[in-house]
Amino acid sequence: MSASLTAELQRILERWQSRGVRTVSLSPGVAEAYFRRSPKPLPTVSVAPPPPRPAPRPAAPPPPKAEPPPPPPVAAAPVVASSLPVEGMGWEELQAKVASCEACKLRQGCTQTVFGVGDIHARLMFIGEGPGFDEDQQGIPFVGKAGQLLTKMIQAMQFSRDEVYIANIVKCRPPNNRNPEPDEVLCCLPYLRRQIELVKPEVIVVLGAVPLRELLGGRSIMRERGEWRDYHGIAVMPTFHPSYLLRVPTAKRQAWDDLQQVMQRLGKDPAQTTPRR
Ligand code: SF4
Repeated sequence: MSASLTAELQRILERWQSRGVRTVSLSPGVAEAYFRRSPKPLPTVSVAPPPPRPAPRPAAPPPPKAEPPPPPPVAAAPVVASSLPVEGMGWEELQAKVASCEACKLRQGCTQTVFGVGDIHARLMFIGEGPGFDEDQQGIPFVGKAGQLLTKMIQAMQFSRDEVYIANIVKCRPPNNRNPEPDEVLCCLPYLRRQIELVKPEVIVVLGAVPLRELLGGRSIMRERGEWRDYHGIAVMPTFHPSYLLRVPTAKRQAWDDLQQVMQRLGKDPAQTTPRR
């Protein structure tokens, strides 16, 4: 396991811990690789309070010192299956790996996996949360109504869809468009991380709360949108998801402010964008 993957795993586990997740099971290979790389303990949490100390009995000799308890077992049910094998993979191998992936329960309920689309050498990358109905049907990210709005946003930024790369946190559609669950994200995130490594964009735009949380550890898209962040040396701009903008059109002004920052960073002049009627 690489240092960056170790740090990423540590960060994900700490984030879940702060969100109330009490235990996470890791496959033996993952746990072993983690401990080889990092002396930091996994943030697993005991679920029972410590027992009350017995009152000291002055007349009796002190009880023999108890043996320190063994460390809690880490390896258990194999929840993580896809964490490591993607390291070093090229595009074809990675795409085939995703297409055949059944590492989490999302695969059982979706039509097909939705890998990603666009220029594999793009300067600009957009990351959403997961496929919806239309994406699940077509196998392409952001093709429904929200996708059409994203296309307009990209064009307003003086790019075409073909010039950027678009991907999601999870590659299979969550049922009823619910947010992906922690174990699903843990299984699937290595694919996206590898996609980012291969594209090597100058800027990433994360769309909405889920990629903000899962990639950057952010807590509130409302408060944290519009502020530059860093993902392994890549500048990241969080902004609203197009689905939210369809529901709350008044937020488009803020989203456009965020996108203009991205344009300026990439050498585009927002003043050259033709206003939409
Ligand atoms: S969501 Fe990701 S990890 Fe889960 S089955 Fe689909 S491709 Fe595999």
